[in-house]
Amino acid sequence: MHGPQWLERGMKHVWLPYTQMRTTLPPLPAVGTHGRTITLADGSELVDGIASWWTACHGYNHPHIRAAVSAQLECMPHVMFGGLVNEPALTLASRLAALLPGDLERVFFTDSGSVAVEVAMKMAIQYWLNRGRTGRTKLLAFRGGYHGDTMATMAICDPDEGMHSLYQGALPEHFIADLPVDADSTRALDDLLAQSGDSIAAIIVEPLVQGAGGMLFHSPDVLRTLRMLADRHGVLLVLDEIFTGFGRTGTMFACEQAGIVPDIITLSKALTAGTMALAATVARTHVFDAFLSDNPLHALMHGPTFMANAMACACANASLDLFEREDCLEQVARIGRQMRTELEPCRSLPHVVDVRVLGAIGVVELDHIRDMNALKAALVAQGVWVRPFRNIVYLTPAFNMTTTELGRLTAAIRTVLAQPV
Ligand SMILES: *Cc1c(COP(=O)(O)O)cnc(C)c1O
Repeated sequence: MHGPQWLERGMKHVWLPYTQMRTTLPPLPAVGTHGRTITLADGSELVDGIASWWTACHGYNHPHIRAAVSAQLECMPHVMFGGLVNEPALTLASRLAALLPGDLERVFFTDSGSVAVEVAMKMAIQYWLNRGRTGRTKLLAFRGGYHGDTMATMAICDPDEGMHSLYQGALPEHFIADLPVDADSTRALDDLLAQSGDSIAAIIVEPLVQGAGGMLFHSPDVLRTLRMLADRHGVLLVLDEIFTGFGRTGTMFACEQAGIVPDIITLSKALTAGTMALAATVARTHVFDAFLSDNPLHALMHGPTFMANAMACACANASLDLFEREDCLEQVARIGRQMRTELEPCRSLPHVVDVRVLGAIGVVELDHIRDMNALKAALVAQGVWVRPFRNIVYLTPAFNMTTTELGRLTAAIRTVLAQPV
């Protein structure tokens, strides 16, 4: 395809994420979005099954979100958050506190998920330091987990998967354990905490779904076990809900399905419904209280330049309006039912080892994908935007996707996987 001039010129200078620039297919030039579709430079349209890394939960260019951003742009796009506050950010903080379970009441804004996780790590470590407990500098994270791409967060991702293993020698060491899914793994984790709990500030986990690690699901019991073990051994529990937050798993937050309240929670991705970059780290009252003192060094030592950006916070408030006005969780349930019915037949296709659905997440797992480029191209040829990674083909569509649009996505997956890949 002959692309627009900016494509050829710019591709000589841009460096793409997680991309072997020599062998990967050239990226597609996107020029517009509307609802659940992406328009390419040649005028063709793709039905989007990924919602831009599961952020665009209300679809693209939603009129209510657009109006909120435009209005904010007119009066005040951004002011620094040091010494000044703005209405959208404070309103958003109050609304998040009201939505989140328990006394998750204190919101610290950042501009990306990785940084929100780093802030959670710093909060947990400094929580103990401020209380006079030295030596609790480690995190306990889980195999299969993904918490970001920055140096600190890479160190708590799954150590063996392909994405970050290369950097291992450059990273601080934390504890990486198996999720407590049965009696043996629970005992092992209990033993680890009994032995090393004094050096651990917090346990961190993605609740219910380990997303970028392979869309791996676990039961709410695992979260109850983690809450119990964290309490037993006196460490904090951090839930990374950057993927699961805002309805994706069928409840507003995944932790609600386990009936537990973490000490710290991280949010991003769908927080602004995919319109602007924003993230938040929310702490319970007892965590925040550990930072109140006469000692200036007991303050949380963090402050990104663009934190609490007024336009991003206006987007997030508009997205929360839509959650209030529309029955998004019912939309999620409907999408889940349709994906369950329409992806289930994939089980009989070659190389398929599992089909699983939770909330608005549908996963077809293969034993391996031989030619990733060919698979990606075949999906685009079907008129859909679906991005398989590792050995999975998955859907995380917008919640307001129509039955017809979703039908096109699942049909495309069935068609393409029926061919040799
Ligand atoms: C995407 C993601 C992150 C990282 O967020 P970025 O905005 O890409 O830095 C962290 N944790 C989870 C669970 C995620 O899905």
